Amino acid sequence: MQGNQKLPLADKCGFFEIRFESIGGLGAHLAGQIFAIAAVLKLGFNGAHFSSYGSEKKGSPIKSYVRLCPADRELRNSSPVERPDLVAVFHEALLRMPSTCAGLKPSGALILNTGKTWEQLASYPLPVPARVYAVDAIGIAVEEKSRVNTAMLGAAARALSFLNPDVLLEAIVEILGGKHPAAVDSNRRTFRRGFEEARLVWESQSAGPSSGDGVAARPAPVYGYLTAPPGGLIVNPGNTILNDLSASRQGFLPVFDPALCNHCGLCDLVCPDYCLVWGSASEPITRRLEGIDYQYCKGCLRCVDSCPTGALKKEREQDGFAQAHRTPLFPGKIGNRSGG
Ligand code: SF4
Ligand code: SF4
Repeated sequence: MQGNQKLPLADKCGFFEIRFESIGGLGAHLAGQIFAIAAVLKLGFNGAHFSSYGSEKKGSPIKSYVRLCPADRELRNSSPVERPDLVAVFHEALLRMPSTCAGLKPSGALILNTGKTWEQLASYPLPVPARVYAVDAIGIAVEEKSRVNTAMLGAAARALSFLNPDVLLEAIVEILGGKHPAAVDSNRRTFRRGFEEARLVWESQSAGPSSGDGVAARPAPVYGYLTAPPGGLIVNPGNTILNDLSASRQGFLPVFDPALCNHCGLCDLVCPDYCLVWGSASEPITRRLEGIDYQYCKGCLRCVDSCPTGALKKEREQDGFAQAHRTPLFPGKIGNRSGG
């Protein structure tokens, strides 16, 4: 054990709290687990880790929590972290939701998976905590053939001075070595790059509360027994037109070249989300592939694998590309969001 480190901050209960905000499939739960194992088993803190996520394994929002306190304190609290000292956002699409960074303490730190500058992030409802770090974790993971989570852990080690990066790396190697030995080397490189390439894009000069001192967000039931519609009526049904799967893409998307397409339809047979848009045509074909509605594309790339002519290519997703190049499935309808 490499203990005796002091937690830099603690709330009135004596806890140091972390929240990983992510999309299922990016490894936030495992990242929280690794973080807690390093902090508890290697640094000697008391700690707890738990996650909350929906029914889908991939693509739906997930929150992973780590709560730490000194070894001489008891930790019996397993409630969600609402006033974190650190928030790490694993996917830029989550920044559209104010709840992502809600409750972050003014003295806290924010880590964003993005290649953008602080000024370029101005369109998002971000808080202004003491420090904000940006790291292109998707770019690193793509280049190293690994996952976003170890790059984000590297950035967390950069943001938290009490956390020795070698200790965190040791925990990564131990855990991945047991489960996926072949992935250890690429994740070791990913972690180191996350640590080295995390950029401090904002640092507050004042110690007091900032304009971005977000209040904690606690989702409440929409209906109670006094307010539910009679007879169990569903007055606001879900509609797949409203789905936005763009946050499920992990760095790549299919790009369509109409000049190479013979409109065979093989891509449509394998697409799980019906995001290929077809128009009418004249003989000898009956339907013409017009493009892709990126709002519904989760980047599985099955269409690319099935295309016999090379009309669909796998490309690294650049900021704004999906929005600029999508072909809407429902032109002029409510479902047309950014798609990017
Ligand atoms: S599989 Fe390729 S060639 Fe066939 S319709 Fe799709 S994009 Fe066009
Ligand atoms: S990558 Fe291709 S197959 Fe997968 S969801 Fe997008 S359009 Fe459909």
